[in-house]
Amino acid sequence: MFMESPIKRRKSRQIMVGNVPVGGDAPIAVQSMTNTETCDVSATVGQIERLQNAGADIVRVSVPSLDAAEAFREIKQKTSVPLVADIHFDYKIALKVAEYGVDCLRINPGNIGREDRVAAVIDAAKYHNIPIRIGVNAGSLEKDLQKKYGEPTPAALVESAMRHIDILNRHNFDNFKISLKASDVFMTVAAYRQIANQIDQPLHLGITEAGGFRSGAVKSAVGLGILLMDGIGDTIRISLAADPVEEVKVGYDLLKSLRLRTKGINFIACPSCSRQNFDVVNTMNELEGRLEDINTPLDVAIIGCVVNGPGEAKEADLGLTGGTPNNLVYVSGVPDHKLNNETLVDDLERLIRDKVLEKEKNQEAIIARS
Ligand code: SF4
Repeated sequence: MFMESPIKRRKSRQIMVGNVPVGGDAPIAVQSMTNTETCDVSATVGQIERLQNAGADIVRVSVPSLDAAEAFREIKQKTSVPLVADIHFDYKIALKVAEYGVDCLRINPGNIGREDRVAAVIDAAKYHNIPIRIGVNAGSLEKDLQKKYGEPTPAALVESAMRHIDILNRHNFDNFKISLKASDVFMTVAAYRQIANQIDQPLHLGITEAGGFRSGAVKSAVGLGILLMDGIGDTIRISLAADPVEEVKVGYDLLKSLRLRTKGINFIACPSCSRQNFDVVNTMNELEGRLEDINTPLDVAIIGCVVNGPGEAKEADLGLTGGTPNNLVYVSGVPDHKLNNETLVDDLERLIRDKVLEKEKNQEAIIARS
């Protein structure tokens, strides 16, 4: 039973990454990045499809060479999700992928070099109506800023970003978004808070090099959660040293927990204890795995006993409260029928899928009437 998020989002201007709006009142876009060898077209296309199936709105692909740019051309033709090309330094690669239909260029204008090369990239972006993402990273700050500040600081990150922005301003180019990433939560949060007051372009949030699956997810959730609570952030990437599909899943879980996006089942489950009347942990693991294909939002409560079961079940679209000899199912907050432990997971999967279908039909009927 979805409730609006109380978060008041920062007003940013909207840009388009392919057909995905970023900024303004658009939903916060979830993105990830491929970690295949880009020149291996079939592996990269396969991973992009897996990311798209997991719900990625935008996918970034590294394009480190002109050979990779040729591979990118094929990848672009074989995929449908908007693609960002990640380019460092070489303006020729940017010109190539612009010609090949890239949806966004991740390139820092200050790193391109000679003014005529910068102008060529910006002209190509204007001609093809492609946005640029400026990506400032604490690990690759300009040497003079490292010297000036002694070490990466929020002010150093912002100063670096403003240099790149100044170049775009000089070329009358405002179709861009910005990221200011550090692996430290405090530095990242402070940097984004500063720049959020200085520009109105959309902000791409991320904690860079956050860590492995568990530690990176926690660090990202803390850093991005603080910013999102402030209303800052128009698109997010969770950086994990893990399968990038997990980045998309964690991204959605983060946005769902702040009620900023809905997608699939929102499970409310107790951690279980000796009072449980069915195996809560196993039931949850089974259901999460079996129901990953569902995109329609639905609140499902899986609670081991009557201590918290009825309260949670009443608030959910579908709820299960453990009991003896049988567990009690709540439908739309009302006690409905009992289920035994023998076929519990199969029965719950069927009930959830039926409820999803019912919800989808209701939504179709509402759209048809309007
Ligand atoms: S709801 Fe019941 S089973 Fe679950 S943790 Fe609380 S007391 Fe234990």
